[in-house]
Amino acid sequence: MNEYMKTIGLIGGMSWESSAEYYRIINETMKEKLGGLHSAKCIMYSVDFEEIEKLQHAGKWKEATEVMIDAAKRVEKGGADFIVICTNTMHKMADEVQSSITIPLLHIADATAEKIRSKGLKKVGLLGTKFTMEEDFYKGRLSNTFGLDVIIPEEDEREIAHDIIYKELCLGEIKKSSKKKFKKIIENLVSRGAEGIILGCTEIPLLIKQEDCSVPLFDTTEIHARSAVESSLARS
Ligand code: GLU
Repeated sequence: MNEYMKTIGLIGGMSWESSAEYYRIINETMKEKLGGLHSAKCIMYSVDFEEIEKLQHAGKWKEATEVMIDAAKRVEKGGADFIVICTNTMHKMADEVQSSITIPLLHIADATAEKIRSKGLKKVGLLGTKFTMEEDFYKGRLSNTFGLDVIIPEEDEREIAHDIIYKELCLGEIKKSSKKKFKKIIENLVSRGAEGIILGCTEIPLLIKQEDCSVPLFDTTEIHARSAVESSLARS
């Protein structure tokens, strides 16, 4: 009996397409580590993404923060030992969420930055929603706390990436034409000196794989999910 296995608390549904990936990766990783019929102890509270997306695009971040805090409290009440927000974008309010609960929040940018640093890379390209690429809550953390040099696509390419995320990937639509567009955006970042690319939106890994890219890819869904398993098994 794994009495030391901590319960992972997931805030999902943003979108559920990527939350399903978290659930799969977390359980596969737990099985890989412990063998047999082992699987992860976890709780997920999954929101209605239509509501969230509307608040995001209306700039109603205060209301969106309240939804995240409410979700985190429910997950804590349900018995989670720590919290994982299954989206990069909604780490915009990570500090407010953390200060409203008593269990730790496992930040997606921290897990990703540590992985990048372990590979010895310094300059990375960031792909994600416009919120993640353009605002400071994510890039700032990568550069100020971890000393990374983060570059983002040009404005028109940011628009393209953002639209593909919300209009296709979050709806489970995987299109060859969009893969091509993302590959071009990645190529441009590499030609501007990116030594690695952060897939900083938890749905992009549904479209883009390592073989689509000439430099190392940092898949935030996989990194975050695996780091949740590490935390679950850490004896502290
Ligand atoms: N899952 C995406 C992310 O990682 C976008 C959806 C959202 O807005 O939360 O940023």
